[in-house]
Amino acid sequence: MNIKSKIIKLLESGNKRLLNYADYIRYKFLGNEVHLRALIEFSNYCKNTCKYCGLRCDNKKIKRYRMTINEIINHAKIAKSLGYKTVVLQSGEDDFYTKDKLSYIIKEIKKFNLVITLSIGERSFSDYKAFKIAGADRYLLRIETTDKILYKSLHPNMSYENRISCLENLISLDFEVGTGSLVGLPNQSLESLAEDILFFKKINADMIGIGPFIPHPDTPLASEKTGDFFLSLKVMAITRILMKDINIPATTAMETLNKNGRIIALQSGANVVMPNITDEKYRKLYEIYPGKICINENAKMCKTCITKKIESIGRSISKHKGSHIKNIQN
Ligand code: SAH
Repeated sequence: MNIKSKIIKLLESGNKRLLNYADYIRYKFLGNEVHLRALIEFSNYCKNTCKYCGLRCDNKKIKRYRMTINEIINHAKIAKSLGYKTVVLQSGEDDFYTKDKLSYIIKEIKKFNLVITLSIGERSFSDYKAFKIAGADRYLLRIETTDKILYKSLHPNMSYENRISCLENLISLDFEVGTGSLVGLPNQSLESLAEDILFFKKINADMIGIGPFIPHPDTPLASEKTGDFFLSLKVMAITRILMKDINIPATTAMETLNKNGRIIALQSGANVVMPNITDEKYRKLYEIYPGKICINENAKMCKTCITKKIESIGRSISKHKGSHIKNIQN
């Protein structure tokens, strides 16, 4: 049986043992440390129309916000004071934040000696290069699905080829690159999920984020079925088994489907959590999907809460930056 068929078989019939084995691989290669990344959702404006996402520009029901440059820098300051080593700056695809504005923000945040991850979608090579020169370290850009037909149907006015070329540009600029997929999209096959996993391995990603698809009522996919929690865990676990030392977050979408979702994910191969530190007045407006957790909490509460949960399963919060240590034989 070739590797793709083996993966499909595991996706079909893998059970708790698969998740336990991924947990063992995580322990063997990365130990018990969990890396926290402080998530700053700085704008919910988006020029795209991804059919699954609540931020799509055609959604007129959502109240839009943009943080000022100073607000973003202040969020990073709060992250630093709470002991975070990494901030993740995430937004819709919002061209209001030009290459120069973002470069300035990155330079200012670097003064706090924080690792910076960007998650702001597709930009030109020259923008990515400027962000790297300004000091950004990592970049998250999910492929979402490697099924080209499905990709096209979900992303009007976007192209699969450009997504790939963005990922290639980020890799060539020496960012630590994260990608990942949605699990349970309408018309997504197990075969295409297996292809996703092989794609992660092929591009040698440093981080992989896997999350279940959760239908948003104000999108064209409103009446579709929610992605399966267990299947999402299996995609994540197989990724861990194939890519032993990479960073894998226990995603927030997992916790939306299961109230213990992030802890279960941490026990099925994940080694990273991204607590939200976005100001309370904004976090409920950053509604990618409904039922997002922690919308009434503040930065400090999220840190305390997740720390307790992580320690309760015998894991510890890392004091290190948590970069992907390459060159370990996979
Ligand atoms: N604009 C940035 C950030 C997007 S939001 C970018 O394009 O990369 C981060 C992730 O949320 C997306 O990559 C997508 O995988 C996920 N997401 C969007 N809509 C979702 C939904 N309805 N259910 C679950 N996850 C969703």
